[in-house]
Amino acid sequence: MSDLVQMPLQAEIPPPLLTIEGLKVHYPVRHSWRGTTLAVKAVDGIDLSLRPGECLGLVGESGCGKSSVAQALLGLVPATAGRISLDGHDITGRGRVDALQLARSAQMVFQDPMSSLNPRQTIREILSGPLRLHGMGSRDERDERVAEMLRLVGMKPDAADRRPHEFSGGQRQRLCIARALIVRPKLVICDEPVSALDVSIRAQIINLLLDLKTELGIALLLISHDLGVVEHMSDRIAVMYLGRIVEEGGWHEIFTQPRHPYTQALISAIPEPMRRDRLPTRLTGEMPSPLSPPQGCAFHPRCPVAIAACRSGDAPAFTRAGPDHRARCHLIDPGTSHA
Ligand code: SF4
Repeated sequence: MSDLVQMPLQAEIPPPLLTIEGLKVHYPVRHSWRGTTLAVKAVDGIDLSLRPGECLGLVGESGCGKSSVAQALLGLVPATAGRISLDGHDITGRGRVDALQLARSAQMVFQDPMSSLNPRQTIREILSGPLRLHGMGSRDERDERVAEMLRLVGMKPDAADRRPHEFSGGQRQRLCIARALIVRPKLVICDEPVSALDVSIRAQIINLLLDLKTELGIALLLISHDLGVVEHMSDRIAVMYLGRIVEEGGWHEIFTQPRHPYTQALISAIPEPMRRDRLPTRLTGEMPSPLSPPQGCAFHPRCPVAIAACRSGDAPAFTRAGPDHRARCHLIDPGTSHA
């Protein structure tokens, strides 16, 4: 047998499409009577990466900073610190030309499909808008691409001549997905893509996004407050609390061996009785203000298993819980499988 045949076959791991290093997004707030300026630390030093064709679920309660991450990615808010790299290019603080180029590589699907579609335009005008913006194709080619995208998202070609109000919420979200994909982006950021939709049609949109991810090989950054939504779509999951990632791992690790009490509480909130029994952690109280985060572990005021060390000092550093699994909690012993 030749050396070539004996060599182990190694799957080539592609380099990350998106890398976020030490990202901070702080919003200055003027204190009215003291006259001082404070900072709302919406995002306070996060690291994330996303490979081509992968879906990363970014999950956490409303106000945890996950939407600020998306906005910083798209250049809609400035990064206070850190570095964002997309497809090998540093896109932190890019200029207008770079921003336009970025818009081709990364597109966004928003929570409310009605407010993100111009009611005065036909679907053809809406879908071909990004193509016109990027100078892509002749008029006939753009029309062809619109018809192709409508078919891809399960809509009939005659939808092109109608207006947004003529469609249901689920159909409008399909149209938003078509608009996001029409310029063939490498990354699509979905910010709560099903939370404004009827429960009965959420599964259809989730399945559509999954099919498109497989068919087109796009990477998805899925932002949601609902771990139940993230569960069905994500290859990896990052759990965010008060501006920081508190646990990150593969789908299997997060759902079978959640190590951070906050992740455990989010999983126990998924309405499936067997899960609730297995993970009895309940989430109580409100998330503290990012203007004055608690000392020590920011989760300690709500944590049912907090110890004295959690209430002072610095926030816990990441502890590795497995090859692709890490969490910030003092109670994690890297040698064990449960917190
Ligand atoms: Fe709870 Fe302490 Fe772990 Fe924070 S560090 S999650 S307060 S046990």
